[in-house]
Amino acid sequence: MAQSDLMPAVFVGHGSPMTAFEQNPYVDAWRALGERLPRPRSILVISAHWYTQGTAVTSPPRQRTVHDFYGFPEELYQFRYDAPGDPALAARTAELLAPTPVAQTDRWGLDHGAWTVLMHAYPKADIPVIQLSIDGTQPFRFHYELGQRLMPLRSEGVLVMGTGNIVHNLRLYDRTGRAPPNPMAERFRKEIQARFRAHDHQGLIDFMDIGPEAQLAQPTPDHFLPLLYIAGLQRPDEDPEFITDVTEGGGVDMTTVLLGAPALAEAA
Ligand code: ZN
Repeated sequence: MAQSDLMPAVFVGHGSPMTAFEQNPYVDAWRALGERLPRPRSILVISAHWYTQGTAVTSPPRQRTVHDFYGFPEELYQFRYDAPGDPALAARTAELLAPTPVAQTDRWGLDHGAWTVLMHAYPKADIPVIQLSIDGTQPFRFHYELGQRLMPLRSEGVLVMGTGNIVHNLRLYDRTGRAPPNPMAERFRKEIQARFRAHDHQGLIDFMDIGPEAQLAQPTPDHFLPLLYIAGLQRPDEDPEFITDVTEGGGVDMTTVLLGAPALAEAA
């Protein structure tokens, strides 16, 4: 299969659930992404918000919308992103990830890491979506290797999407959104981008060795780990493209990392 037939892979920096109803540069970028990328047959999402013991995929024929947050306006809890599921893709994913056991379950659906992005990128909700959980008990390398094993999906018309944040520290976050970037967090995000550009996957797996910057940028690793799955899908000839390269409110990095996308000038 020619490389142009490969689906891109993407890591999206997601924001607060309120982005569902906001107009901002991130939402605009996600909409543009949906218009620019080749239309996927299905989408596999790895979200920071489905953190489990063991690995699981959502397998029912329709996905439910999970409202995995508290204290937000009622209208957010009423929102539904009624995408179809893809039981065959769930089974295929389990097959590819063997020998790692993968539970096929209906105990989760699409969480806000997935649907706040998908509702803008694919507003018709007419593309099947499944989620793959993140086994929080495993070492960082495990997540990179699972990403590698998903590589065949790129030849099968599946868009693999990680959703998290390269910097995720809500203590640094200023809700006015106007806080200047923290210099240490800024160093961290630039170093991660440099490692991605250099195809330094070992360096991405070893992100905590960046130093105290890493502890500040990722007090818990959950929002970083989806990036390792996408690193596992980076081909030797693919340079990453960074979109909305900015840290919102000083504490939440909104950078989207895109691999293998058609050049903008060639987009339909
Ligand atoms: Zn999040």
